[in-house]
This record gives sequence, structure tokens and C-alpha cells, in this order.
Amino acid sequence: MHNANLYQALREGFPDDLQRIAVETDQGLAYSWSDLERGSAMMANWIESLTLPASSRIAVQVEKSVEVLMLYLATLRSGHVFLPLNPAYQAAEMAYFIGNAEPALVVCSPEKFSSVSKIAFQSGTTYVVTLDDQRTGSLLQRAAHHSDLHTPVHRQPDDIAAIIYTSGTTGRSKGAMLSHGNLLSNASVLNDYWGWQVGDVLIHALPIFHVHGLFVAIHGALLSGSPMCWHSRFDPARVLADMSRATVLMGVPTFYTRLLALPGLNKSACAGMRLFISGSAPMLVDTFVQWQERTGHTVLERYGMSETVMLTSNPYRADPRFGGATERIGGSVGFALPSVDLRIVSAAGEPLPRGEVGSIQVKGPNVFAGYWRMPEKNAQEFTADGYFITGDMGTLDDKGYVRIVGRSKDLIISGGLNVYPAEIEDVLNNLPGVAESAVVGVPHADFGEVGFAFVLARPGSALQADHLLQSLKGRLANFKLPKYCQLVPELPRNAMGKVQKNVLREIGKLGSDTN
Ligand code: AMP
Repeated sequence: MHNANLYQALREGFPDDLQRIAVETDQGLAYSWSDLERGSAMMANWIESLTLPASSRIAVQVEKSVEVLMLYLATLRSGHVFLPLNPAYQAAEMAYFIGNAEPALVVCSPEKFSSVSKIAFQSGTTYVVTLDDQRTGSLLQRAAHHSDLHTPVHRQPDDIAAIIYTSGTTGRSKGAMLSHGNLLSNASVLNDYWGWQVGDVLIHALPIFHVHGLFVAIHGALLSGSPMCWHSRFDPARVLADMSRATVLMGVPTFYTRLLALPGLNKSACAGMRLFISGSAPMLVDTFVQWQERTGHTVLERYGMSETVMLTSNPYRADPRFGGATERIGGSVGFALPSVDLRIVSAAGEPLPRGEVGSIQVKGPNVFAGYWRMPEKNAQEFTADGYFITGDMGTLDDKGYVRIVGRSKDLIISGGLNVYPAEIEDVLNNLPGVAESAVVGVPHADFGEVGFAFVLARPGSALQADHLLQSLKGRLANFKLPKYCQLVPELPRNAMGKVQKNVLREIGKLGSDTN
């Protein structure tokens, strides 16, 4: 019977000549395709020697390195469940994740060994080993004793390959269970949709504890046999330098704004690039336009989430399902990907006409199997007819382009009327002197909630909060006008560049009390 192990499919994408370079790092190291195959085989053989229970969770909290990539592949090969964790998590957060996931094996950095191993052993973990970003640690020592030949364990499409904990900006973080089938179907769709081709070289500068860097970027490169320029962290100057030998960049919007700040970013620096992809957070239309002007390239924005991997994308080439549309539109996240069934519904769950804002619901082979040990959340977040309620609000236009207006939890209900922060942010961002803004709801005695705008000024502009509020009058209906505004030197963001609206709400609550 066919083996649905994701590694098997990724391995089939490797080039015939395994001695070619697969990954070149910013520390000057080169790994061949054979190194990836053999290194992951040795780790898989070591993992199998531990005789862990089937589908054990392997929790990994380490800095980015090619060895972590091998460990991910080894986990797939051995049929266990990869559970990546942000290296920034502190002991209390680790205690929650380890307590919730009950991993059989934990891999952490040598510096965190004493704190993480204590937490892990208390939660019943049997093995804790170390790995650092300089190729040392007990994981590699142990794997070194094992054979470099390994056959991937037989898996069914529904078997779980990874658990990704959501960033949990509201309430407890939830472990989204993604199967081998979820990941492979999405990777195959993107492989075709984004036109991965022989000769592609990916600049990989994203973290690998998140779907964007771990699945979208890595699967794209491996499945198409494309080498990667591997950056341990995002450094705009290094990314710019690598554009001369690469073809694809995947980034969060912050990558693009930081690259735009470099005087060397111009058409000739990007001449060999084929595709610039952005996602994980909304890209400002201003950034989209500036990128076009400076580089001659149109960024392709896409939308997805931990629970579903990718859902929508602007077209790379003519999409026959949407009248052959080829246009990538700034501020839009494009069309539902082939195989993704996406609908916009009202609060009552009724499908809405095109153009109306509603809740985005999705179904498809990429949609996760549910949250780890949270049956009550699964019941709440899937509809009776099997759609996943993404928690995002958006619209679908006549041509089929999706626009995201924000998380439903960020919706402001003022005097009983819905106010979408993205609409106010758009108007604010277009005012002279405004670089960026974020609007959140804060409690209000009269209206229930009112908007609080946080605004980042362009360098050299002399903005004043009360003038900004005045300027919005006449540009937005009265009920949408924020009541408060504060100028800030920067917006708080998480590791994926998402504005942390929960943090702003707390600041807003304090600010509005004293206003
Ligand atoms: P995560 O699970 O951490 O990947 O976060 C997923 C969330 O990020 C989505 O539900 C959206 O709210 C947001 N997101 C991802 N991509 C985009 C995008 N291109 N534009 C706007 N929001 C996005």
C-alpha cells in the first residue's frame, strides 16, 4: 500500500544528484541533499531506538539551524509528531506546553537544559537531549552512533505529523494537529500555484517554529528540489546580498519594510528574483506600491494560519478558475487556493453576498484535524457542516479576491454597531505623516466600546494625536471615529511581525481611563 509519510513525498522531490548543495548557511556551511537524507536517517534511527509509544510528541525548543530541519525530517520519518516551540518561551510557558502536550522526547538548547529538563521530567517525559546552533549537543552525539540508512515508517494521510501551538494572544494557546495529508496536500497545491521550478533558490530567513518558515518555505523548497540560502535570523543587508543568487523570498511584511529602508534595494539588485511572497500579517498597500516602484516586482500576498497552512493567494500566473485573472492586488490576499472551499458568513452563519464583511470559514484537505486535547474548542470552532471558523473577518469581491479586515476578536462593537479596525487603519495610514496605525477597542461607559488608535509617525513629521482624530471626521461615519489616539515610537509585534492587539488593548484601557 502507498506510504503517505510526508517525508517520502518530500524525498521524491530531491534532485537526482544528491551531492548538489541543498542548504547554504549564513555561517558559510554547505549541506548537500545527501547530508539532509543521511543526517535525518541517523536521527530517525536514534529516535526509533528509544522505542517511544506510537505518535509520540517530540517537543523542540532550540535556535534555528539546519540540524533542526534534519530533526523535523527525522520526526516525520519515524512517524512521530513534531512540536516546535519558540526559543523565546520562558519557563512558565514551557511548563504549559510540556504539561499539555506530554512529549516523550524534548530537545532544548544546552543553556536551557536544567530548567527545561526539570519541567519535562515532572511531566513524565522520558528523554531530554540538547542541540545548539553550532552543531553540538547530546542529540547529535547520540545520532552519530546510528546508521545513515532509514526507510520512512508507514503512515496514513490522517496520521498526525506536527502540532503547532497557536500564538494564543487571547486565552490559552491551543495545539493545532496537522496530519501528513494536510501538509502534503497544501505543499503540492503551492508547488504548482507558485510555479516552483528547476533553478529556483529560496532565501529562508524566517523562524522555523511557525507554519510559514517550517511548512510553507521548507516544503516548497524540498518538494521542488530547490536549494535554500539559510539565514539564522532576518538581517536585511544579508537578504539583499543573497538576492543576486536567489529567485524566491518568503517574508512577513516587516521584511519588506526593512528591505525598503536599504538604499541598495533597486531593480538591478532584484533582477534575478522570480517571486516575492508576503504573509502572516497584513502588508500595507503603501509597502506594496513602494516595492513595485523600487524593484519592478509585485509582491504576492497570501493568507493562512497554523490550523490550515495556506488558504488564499494572489495569482502567480493566470488562474483559470477566476477568469484567467493575473493581477496581484495590494491589500488583498487573493483567491482561495485550489482545493480550498472558502465562504463568508454572517454572525448567524448565513452565506453573505459578495462585498459584505463576515466571518471567514474554510474546508479542505489542508484543514487540521482539531486541537490537541481540546474537544470543547473543536466543537466551538467547526460548524455542523464541517467548516473551520477561522476567526478572521473578511470580504470576497466580484472577481473572487479575498480581503481580510481583522480578527473577529478585534472587532469593535460601538453603540451596537460593528466597527472594523482595518477600515479605520486604512484611512489613518493614508493621512499625511502617518507611517502605520493599529486600532483596538477599549471599554466605554456609554457606547460599550470605542476605538483607540495607536499611530506611528513618518520620520520628520510633526503629527499631533488630537489633530489626527479631527482629520478623521468627515472621512468616516461618526460611529466609527476612534475616541482616543496616541502616537507611539513603534507597534508591539510578535515574532511573525503580527501587531499584538492584546498588548495595545491593555495600554488603551489605561490611556482611556485617564483621558
Ligand atoms: P498564525 O496561526 O500565527 O499563522 O496566525 C494566523 C493569522 O494571521 C490569520 O488568522 C490572520 O489573522 C493573520 N494573517 C496571516 N496572513 C495574513 C495576511 N496576508 N493578511 C492579513 N492577516 C494575515
